[in-house]
Amino acid sequence: MHAEVTRNKPEELGKFYTEEQFLASYGLKKDDLTRLRPAPFQLGHENATLVMLVRNRELGDALRTMRMLEDRFNRNYRYPWIFLNDEPFEASFIEYTKGMASGQTHYGLIDYDQWSVPSFIDTEKTKISMEKLVQENVIYAGSMSYRHMCRYNSGFFFRHPLVQSYEWYWRVEPGVEYFCDLTYDPFTYMKDHDKTYGFVMAMYEYQATIPTLWDATKQFVAEHPQYLAVNNSLDFFVDFHQATKEGEVTIEGDFNLCHFWSNFEIANLNFWRSEAYMEYFSFLDKQGGFFYERWGDAPVHSLAVGLFLPKSKIHHFGDIGYKHPPYSRCPQDEESHSSGRCFCSRGDHFDDDSYSCLPRWWNVAGMSPGAGNKKID
Ligand code: GDP
Ligand code: MN
Repeated sequence: MHAEVTRNKPEELGKFYTEEQFLASYGLKKDDLTRLRPAPFQLGHENATLVMLVRNRELGDALRTMRMLEDRFNRNYRYPWIFLNDEPFEASFIEYTKGMASGQTHYGLIDYDQWSVPSFIDTEKTKISMEKLVQENVIYAGSMSYRHMCRYNSGFFFRHPLVQSYEWYWRVEPGVEYFCDLTYDPFTYMKDHDKTYGFVMAMYEYQATIPTLWDATKQFVAEHPQYLAVNNSLDFFVDFHQATKEGEVTIEGDFNLCHFWSNFEIANLNFWRSEAYMEYFSFLDKQGGFFYERWGDAPVHSLAVGLFLPKSKIHHFGDIGYKHPPYSRCPQDEESHSSGRCFCSRGDHFDDDSYSCLPRWWNVAGMSPGAGNKKID
């Protein structure tokens, strides 16, 4: 520590403090200036947590991502982090992530029966269909762990004992990047604006990974029409469809493959715990598509959110600069750049790319193109 510090309150520019005076003027103790200790308390007001499903070998990426999210947001809120893994975390993983977090950290092991092939799955059929997908060069076609991961993110993470007591979560993947200061609490924003699910990017799914997901979803809705929300997002998923109106119970047409990219999610855990979603997941699970095909948690989450909730409960975080390779999205408004809030390149977005479903979302959500880019004060 320097004996003299030269940082001043804005109204007292030019005046110099000793360290003691400086700390006293802000009501701080010496300890408050160092981050080399676990945060004793949370500053953010919500019952929320940052959740990362991660492998030990991804520590480097996990730390880089944590550093960015802490700098851009969490250091001012100190929400707890929860790390989940199908294998025990190594001591060094725990030591370094604990050091990087401004809030408490918790480490959870995933139950074997939530990360293994269930008894109702035909292993021979799985093998044959995996090989077929490999022949078709489908990404992760031959990976069993990837299938477990997608199934876990679809149906189990929100029931993990460590996650159980929370209402809100922010899904964070090792290696993702955050480019913009978030000067408000997105959990509070979601609560105050009656939102359930928040996303940044939307795009098309690979058809080869979900050949029967749409038919299964239609069948589920036919059997449980009560779960179909009025004013849902069917017009996002099906070209020329209308959002469901009062009294309508069927879905017509083909899935256009648009979905929210779920490696980023800020959402309410109670939605996944709802009867509608629990039944939907269990129905899908019994179809076997997580294994026979390669259903991703992104289309599964998206279809549920889009069909069982009114559209108004879905929020596009256009003000969050975010990258999950190979795609990124930088806020497009002038102020996000002139204010120094963001350090991403403004051209880094794929809003007008033919692969993006965001323009379609703006359309069906009745937003003007680019709406929501600005930070919310
Ligand atoms: P992609 O984004 O679809 O390419 O898939 P990722 O490889 O990024 O996996 C998605 C998330 O699940 C990331 O947070 C990974 O760290 C995590 N993940 C993937 N496979 C495993 C696994 O076998 N074990 C654990 N513990 N985490 C995994
Ligand atoms: Mn990923």
